[in-house]
Amino acid sequence: MIVYLNKNYSFIEDACISPLDRGFLFADGVYESIRTYNKKLFHYGDHLERLKRSLAEIKIVFFDFDSIEKIIYTLIEKNKIRNEALVYLQITRGSAFPRSHKFPESNINPTIFISVNNLESRKDKLNKGIKVILQEDLRWLRCNIKSTSLLPVVLANQKAFEEGAEEAILVRNGLITEGTHTNFFAVKEDTVFTAPLSNLILDGITRKIVLELCSQQKIKVKEKHFHKDELKNFEEFFITSTTKEITPIVQIDDWEINNGKSGAVTIKLQSAFTELTEKY
Ligand code: PMP
Repeated sequence: MIVYLNKNYSFIEDACISPLDRGFLFADGVYESIRTYNKKLFHYGDHLERLKRSLAEIKIVFFDFDSIEKIIYTLIEKNKIRNEALVYLQITRGSAFPRSHKFPESNINPTIFISVNNLESRKDKLNKGIKVILQEDLRWLRCNIKSTSLLPVVLANQKAFEEGAEEAILVRNGLITEGTHTNFFAVKEDTVFTAPLSNLILDGITRKIVLELCSQQKIKVKEKHFHKDELKNFEEFFITSTTKEITPIVQIDDWEINNGKSGAVTIKLQSAFTELTEKY
């Protein structure tokens, strides 16, 4: 696999960063996951904008945004990606000695790393739906920054895996926020509910697209928090993300929803989403 690291393309085995990199020492960095449809980067402008916002929030000064898109397409070509591509992009504050919590006083160069790989088909999961579990949201209070500091969600997602589930849905003070790497939606009486944008969730790009699709399809939306004890009042659930697209949830912990079948509103949104991506 060929990757891009700080102005160089190289085999992954030869790509090295300093052990003093603040991404390694402090998770002092941000990232984006972007994908292609029809070999074209999907909503690249939205991802770039979110990346710039995340960098600004943690005060990493990075200028070279204009070359990123070309680097990604070069990587797709160099790696002979046959299907659609999933792009991982990470920028950290860079490395400085000695290790010190505060930002380095001298100007240091941020570290930029980009890799691409083949996206495998998730048709089965998109059709059949997935199981999720509820987990306490142990993250910090700046979840709107796409930070590489991911340990709370790594642990929650691992717990989901150990319980035969694909995702953990996070609960803060009784209220549902989002998944470990997805946004969460619930449907009741033809109205779609999801947590409002705030510091408690990531402003998912797929979330934004789904809300636009709801408006086009004349499906009502309420951006509002709800309590985990209210879950049983809803009829359908799904998660969204760049890689999970719109994935139906058919089981939450031990509760099998709708006899394990995807709901009608979820299916309607999935087909509108497919139509959108097919002609992208
Ligand atoms: N929430 C979190 C915590 C995430 O990590 C992600 C994945 N980036 C999402 C939501 C979904 O965002 P997007 O639709 O932009 O992939």
